[in-house]
Amino acid sequence: MKSENYFSANADLAFYYEKVIDWDRLVPLYAEAEDARRPAQTAESWREVLSVAGDFVGHQVSARAAEVDRLGTPHQGDIKVSPPMAENLRGLAELGVIGLGVPREYGGEGMPFVTQAAMLEMLARADASTMVQYAFFTSPAAMILRFGSDAQKQRWVPRLARGEVVGWVAMTGPGACWDVGNVSTTATRQSDGTWRITGRKQFISSGHGEVGVLLARAVPGSRGLNGLALFLVPKCVPDAEQGERENYDVERAEDKVCINGSPTCALSFTESHAEILGAPGEGWRQITTFMNEARIAVGIQSCGVAQAALSAAQDYAAQRVQMGKPIREHPLVAEMLLDMETTVAGLRALWMEAAVAYDLVQAFDRRLHKLSEVDPERPALEARKRRIEGYLREMTPLAKYFGSEEAIRVARTGMQVFGGYGVVKDYEVERFLRDSLILPIYEGTSQIQSLMATKDLLKAVTRDPRSLLAPGGHSPWLSGSRFEGVVGRHYAAAVRDFGRALNWLLWDVARRVGLRRVVAVMRGQAELDEADLDYVLLSAERLTQMLAHLHIGRLLAQQAERWPERGPLAERFMRRTADVCALNARRIMRSDRDALEAIQEWHASATA
Ligand SMILES: Cc1cc2nc3c(=O)[nH]c(=O)nc-3n(C[C@H](O)[C@H](O)[C@H](O)COP(=O)(O)OP(=O)(O)OC[C@H]3O[C@@H](n4cnc5c(N)ncnc54)[C@H](O)[C@@H]3O)c2cc1C
Repeated sequence: MKSENYFSANADLAFYYEKVIDWDRLVPLYAEAEDARRPAQTAESWREVLSVAGDFVGHQVSARAAEVDRLGTPHQGDIKVSPPMAENLRGLAELGVIGLGVPREYGGEGMPFVTQAAMLEMLARADASTMVQYAFFTSPAAMILRFGSDAQKQRWVPRLARGEVVGWVAMTGPGACWDVGNVSTTATRQSDGTWRITGRKQFISSGHGEVGVLLARAVPGSRGLNGLALFLVPKCVPDAEQGERENYDVERAEDKVCINGSPTCALSFTESHAEILGAPGEGWRQITTFMNEARIAVGIQSCGVAQAALSAAQDYAAQRVQMGKPIREHPLVAEMLLDMETTVAGLRALWMEAAVAYDLVQAFDRRLHKLSEVDPERPALEARKRRIEGYLREMTPLAKYFGSEEAIRVARTGMQVFGGYGVVKDYEVERFLRDSLILPIYEGTSQIQSLMATKDLLKAVTRDPRSLLAPGGHSPWLSGSRFEGVVGRHYAAAVRDFGRALNWLLWDVARRVGLRRVVAVMRGQAELDEADLDYVLLSAERLTQMLAHLHIGRLLAQQAERWPERGPLAERFMRRTADVCALNARRIMRSDRDALEAIQEWHASATA
């Protein structure tokens, strides 16, 4: 595993923290007192923290990664992390880098998420399992901070932020996973006002932890997304006879092919003690905040895993000689390396944009929370928050979808660069490929992400049909961008192809449901159902691939305008964007409905 400082020796990552991130805007929103008034110095001190952490991660966590993978975790009995994983987590806690994003009054450093995000990328590059374990200190802490009482915050958050205890967040049950409305775990209020949980949760990362946040049905007889609530569930509760006893059963940890060092647990609850976070009925709204953060985090993790494969392939291709020259000098290998490098840079551009947007939304939220309802500053701040929230909503499924799909492709290409050694366990590229396989699955599969992005796209165009007249018009960020030269020509062609495909899809719907119904939908007097939109939804992944490329191309082109040394990267990515958009537009407009016809046949044969 490459041993170097994973922050300062990674030129592309460091570039964002030195040049791209607008610290003058971000620091005053997060830092306090004197630090808030000196953005440049404060940002420098944050970079220093990342550099110290990058040294630890790049030399020590990376060195233990193969052992963490080999040892995995026990699958039955006393489920815990392996000694090298425990060593990684202890080291991170000693450096004080676990609670970077947690407010200072709760034992953290009060930094913006974008600093913690660099930790996530570096850790994912060193060892994707350690990154998952690291994330489950602050993910439950964030939920407790957001929805917990003062006592709950004081009891748990400082210990999570310091890495003294680890937690879990459980939505998924044995039958209902991303279909949150089907949650079968129930919470029952006792006559003394306390709550008991009964049911099972499946696939819970870090489920062996000391405390968890759990989604359960709290209103008897409620259905779907109504009547859900979040609960804080400690692993141990006081017991009159034993002093303390286990509150629920950690049944097993799954035997997986990927992220072996992170226990993925099945939990069983029988009248388990729990404290409610917030109120019954708020669970769905609350859990979406976790899902949104987790999706960005998986986008970041994807970039880290892809970076690991890229660095390994670059080093190997420079020293492996075939036919009298290093293999990187054979054009087909050079092309693989360049494609990997371009992809990783693109993934980083996308998650960075999402992370900064996330920080702005959080900061505006906190500010609004402090303002009275009649404060004259409120309307303008609310409008700014709405705008950036819309942008974040557009970026999040793209970061998750594109990051995870592309990480697999990059890891697979990395294996190809290693030739026969790629499939040999002594070389780490096989682990990168195995670990990448989880990325498009957890925190909402790729299919769910692309459906979300497509439904949002449809909402935007039905809300403002005039946006269809301008290519990319549903998104002010896409339609408002113009670039010079070759990059500009490719961008214009790509946005045009996207617009053509979208218009074609909508005309196709109109042809099928009739123009009168479409007009009623646009006036808000009717709604289209899934059957009306079947071909649009079948095209979801194609549309999402186009959107992800367009946004990354736009971001890299904007960078190239300010920093000409980014020009070749922007041009390479934009050429690819034009190709991806042209191909996907052609595929959409070919109107291949084989899958829809197959569904009808399967359905008919099942009901015959
Ligand atoms: C290692 C690991 C860690 C995890 N950690 C956690 C955790 O910490 N907390 C937690 O709550 N959960 C966790 N999960 C659960 C994870 O989020 C789910 O496994 C994931 O969301 C997929 O759900 P599923 O397994 O039920 O697949 P299914 O929903 O059954 O999906 C199977 C296939 O069908 C597709 N599909 C399903 N519905 C649709 C649809 N409507 N349209 C199109 N395609 C569809 C999916 O994309 C997928 O390809 C974890 C899972 C794993 C494997």
